[in-house]
Amino acid sequence: MTRLLMFCVGLGACCGPLLAQVCSQCPPRRPASAKAAWTLLTGGYDGRFNKDCNVNGNCESARFRGSCRRGCTATAQSPFAVVLSCADSRVPPELVFDQGIGDLFIIRIAGNIASTEAKGSIEYALTKFNPRPKLLLVLGHEDCGAARAAVEYQPPKVWPGSPEVFSIVAPIFRAVGDCKDYSGNTCISGVVTRNVQRVLADLNAFKAVQDAKQFDSTFGVGGMVYDLKPKSSLIVVQDPK
Ligand SMILES: [Zn+2]
Repeated sequence: MTRLLMFCVGLGACCGPLLAQVCSQCPPRRPASAKAAWTLLTGGYDGRFNKDCNVNGNCESARFRGSCRRGCTATAQSPFAVVLSCADSRVPPELVFDQGIGDLFIIRIAGNIASTEAKGSIEYALTKFNPRPKLLLVLGHEDCGAARAAVEYQPPKVWPGSPEVFSIVAPIFRAVGDCKDYSGNTCISGVVTRNVQRVLADLNAFKAVQDAKQFDSTFGVGGMVYDLKPKSSLIVVQDPK
């Protein structure tokens, strides 16, 4: 298997049939719609990750990171979902959703904010891959440090840090609402949810996203919050639409 893959990758496109034969053992996921893509993600979370899938050997993030999938994606990618998530070390989307190499196009930035660079990456994903990803997911999480910072230093307080970090925190000010207690989980939880809602609104107004919806009526945008605690449920902020 490994030799065949090395041979195929070395030959590139002229080895298509052989590569396709190998890839049939680790086929790329092709959900028919945003809702089907959403189901793949939530199924990976509820059905495997949240049940410690490694215990029973049913972890697809392990199965689909092997030489088969690496060989299949060595010359091209066609991820079925784009994920904008926080950079927090406790929220690795491939593991949380139990997906493999080539399944997800992930943009990670503190606070999962829709920065110019994040939007550029999203536009790239929605215009360059064939087939186009079916879902754009904004993934927030509980206990987000960026959300806490936005509450702690909301105006008129003066930001004490660098302009680089301020550029992360400032967009979250608009999600602070009436939260005054940056040490309280319930208060921060509301900021996290509102931040996801605000980012979704930003992205739904983004031309590349609007174009994707117009081109493919089965494409959709959704948002959720990851709880961090084991055995907890994903919190739906917006079903894909
Ligand atoms: Zn965070």
